[in-house]
Amino acid sequence: MKSFDVPVMYRSPLISAIKKKRKEADRMKKDFSPTLLDFGPMRIYLARHFGFCYGVENAIDIAFRTVDENPGKRIFLLSEMIHNPQVNYDLRSRGVQFLQDNHGKQIVPFEELAADDVVLIPAFGTTLAIEAQLKAIGIPTEKYDTTCPFVEKVWNRSEVIAKSDYTIIIHGKPSHEETRATFSHAAANAPSVVVKDLKQTMELAKYITGQKDAAGFYNEFAGQYSEDFDVNQHLQRIGVVNQTTMLASDTQGIADYLKGVMQDHFGLDETNIKERFADTRDTLCYATNDNQTAVTGMLDTPADLAIVVGGYNSSNTSHLVELCEEKLPTYYISSEAKILSEQTISHYNFHDKIESVTEGYLPQKETVNILITSGASCPDAVVEEVIRKLHGYFPGAKAFDELVAEFA
Ligand code: SF4
Repeated sequence: MKSFDVPVMYRSPLISAIKKKRKEADRMKKDFSPTLLDFGPMRIYLARHFGFCYGVENAIDIAFRTVDENPGKRIFLLSEMIHNPQVNYDLRSRGVQFLQDNHGKQIVPFEELAADDVVLIPAFGTTLAIEAQLKAIGIPTEKYDTTCPFVEKVWNRSEVIAKSDYTIIIHGKPSHEETRATFSHAAANAPSVVVKDLKQTMELAKYITGQKDAAGFYNEFAGQYSEDFDVNQHLQRIGVVNQTTMLASDTQGIADYLKGVMQDHFGLDETNIKERFADTRDTLCYATNDNQTAVTGMLDTPADLAIVVGGYNSSNTSHLVELCEEKLPTYYISSEAKILSEQTISHYNFHDKIESVTEGYLPQKETVNILITSGASCPDAVVEEVIRKLHGYFPGAKAFDELVAEFA
């Protein structure tokens, strides 16, 4: 895979060494067991795959290079480039301004832009409408486009489905930048609807089977369907694509459910289901798959707690948390600063969208086993800081440098 120029401040010598060693020993990525960092009284199990993915490194490389190559120019990002507070802060501190917030709310009006401004498109991509707006101002979008190729792959898949006259069902978070961008590209080719979860998919299915009156659809799915969507006509042939960072099992569940609905309602079987349901595999990206599988592998290890590091609005990170929560106490933190002491940790509850403080998160026992992973937009340097902070609470632990040397 292509390598990128990522600022050294985001790297961790320890984690780079671990990843290199694991990669050399497992080139085919078949081993999803975690890496043990045995400090004695504290044992850390690091997921096999975590941290910056291809798309994030690509975006960071382009963004920092753009800042260096355009002194004196106004540089804007359409929205957060990736969902990591530190990276976005670093870009802001280099003078990059954000045009919109994460939900598409305008911060700097497009009318204030001029043709010689630089506008970076984030890794999630953007809508065709925004692209057209920028082009109308005279701003070239291709040159500073950091859209991840794996997101573009989903757009291409939608196009293929659309060419065969299927309506596109997008499993994603309706307000997430990537889903909005994918919806825009899909809707340019075919009628499209976004479903956020299985519950909403089951409601959509009631319009397929006629259990629900078509008129109700437009209210129930307001903001989630394409222009001129006709429920009676456009749910006859469907195909599913998804936001690249959803939970694999959720997308599978949605696709299986809709396939079953089409089979039962139209009296089809495996031999002729293609008449009504496009044969698509999920459009999760490799990083989402690797990171989720690595968490599943990590969870086979008996442990006392899990720590997941990443931005609180990061979709892929929240799904790693979801997986860990099923097995053991899990703390979702954005950086080591959230570990307040040996006793207290401040962590994010993404279900309720609140941050709360837990006392006694580290059990009092001879050896504490901690599982750690991070999202695809989290710098390894942040994960190393988390490990270092925890290490400081175990006075008898093996020296940090001694452990680093084991992986050198
Ligand atoms: S998580 Fe996947 S789709 Fe998103 S930027 Fe990374 S590689 Fe690309």
